Amino acid sequence: MLGEVMIHEAALLKAREIASHALAPSAGQNDKAGRFSAEAVASLGESGLLGLMLPPDVGGSGLGPRTFAAVTATLAKADASVAMVYLMHILGAATIGAARPSAAQAATPMLQEIAAGRHLSTLAFSEAGSRSHFWTPISRARRNGNGVRISAKKSWVTSAGHAQSYVVSSLAPEGVGPTDSTLYLVLAETRGLSIAGPWDGLGLRANASAPIALDDCEVPSSFQLTDDGKGFQAMLNVVLPLFNLGTAAVALGLCRAAVDGTSSHLKGAKFEHLGQTLGESLPTLRAQLASMQIETDGLSARIDDLVEHLEKPRETTMLRVLETKAAAGEVAISVTSAAMRICGGAAFSKHLSIERLFRDAHAGAVMAPTGDVLRELIANSLLGMPLF
Ligand SMILES: Cc1cc2nc3c(=O)[nH]c(=O)nc-3n(C[C@H](O)[C@H](O)[C@H](O)COP(=O)(O)OP(=O)(O)OC[C@H]3O[C@@H](n4cnc5c(N)ncnc54)[C@H](O)[C@@H]3O)c2cc1C
Repeated sequence: MLGEVMIHEAALLKAREIASHALAPSAGQNDKAGRFSAEAVASLGESGLLGLMLPPDVGGSGLGPRTFAAVTATLAKADASVAMVYLMHILGAATIGAARPSAAQAATPMLQEIAAGRHLSTLAFSEAGSRSHFWTPISRARRNGNGVRISAKKSWVTSAGHAQSYVVSSLAPEGVGPTDSTLYLVLAETRGLSIAGPWDGLGLRANASAPIALDDCEVPSSFQLTDDGKGFQAMLNVVLPLFNLGTAAVALGLCRAAVDGTSSHLKGAKFEHLGQTLGESLPTLRAQLASMQIETDGLSARIDDLVEHLEKPRETTMLRVLETKAAAGEVAISVTSAAMRICGGAAFSKHLSIERLFRDAHAGAVMAPTGDVLRELIANSLLGMPLF
């Protein structure tokens, strides 16, 4: 597929193949061991999916949010950890792709490597000091000739230690306000960059979301992705819509997996003394399964609506961006909680993959912008108050 431009259906077919052959068989073991799947990333690279949204002139497929959401949901149904790695990569690639003209010369070979499947990127925004308020970094870049030096404590970075590059936020050297940040591209081999701790999360255990430390890292001006103080705009315009869409797609994949897992348990597990399966025997379980399906399809429709808004932006687009992630976080928790209840002791004692889905589903709501912050932003927008 590399070297050819992919269309939506071909991308989805690739995602399905990778999900069933490379992701599903090892998702359980990788979750248990907290093991990052380099094989999954290699498969995504070989298939051309790492360059999904990059323009054809750098070797990408030039596909849009519709395909991105469908591919991410497909991966998440098999392994949400890998889907989150993919999502953060697509965001890193999009931000590098949107680099200011003076960074284009340095960015182009990087984008070509991404499209060729040899370069994984990610975002390093959240800082220990400002926590989930990633739009207000505590660190401040310092001038160093034409470039800068950055010291920062990045608290969670998906694919830490596995990515080839990190898109890093830091206050601009002369920035005045708390959101006057700049985005920089920091290569993994940069001196002073280190993995600052382990990743042992409740869920998404196989995505290496460890903290990283930048200790006086030198970044040349050619790797400055935005103009000074324009990082916040890039976060809002480039990152936020795709991040919210992607996390909603991960939630959808988890919900679909929960519906499938629950259905198959209800069809397979038996009350031998009654001569019936659980599903045949208990209307209450059937009703709960139906509710799971209703919520899952509702989320799917909401994602389609957001895709449509991103394809044809209008006044309500930002509201949809905010609402979709807020809703998706809750739906994923609700649907996977119902699956835990329906599947009872079999789920609780980890005989099924349901409990992994339940744990993974809790990540979306705490990933920034968190569900609480999204509500604040939605209400601010309804009341005509400033968003931030
Ligand atoms: C699996 C995983 C992967 C991640 N990957 C990345 C990554 O690749 N890159 C990256 O930059 N970050 C990443 N993060 C970090 C993430 O985006 C958040 O920054 C982080 O989860 C925030 O946690 P915290 O404890 O610091 O939240 P806190 O800021 O301490 O929030 C605690 C609580 O307060 C609530 N709260 C905060 N502000 C408000 C408000 N204004 N109004 C109402 N309630 C509020 C929150 O919703 C939350 O419930 C990742 C996190 C996880 C869990």
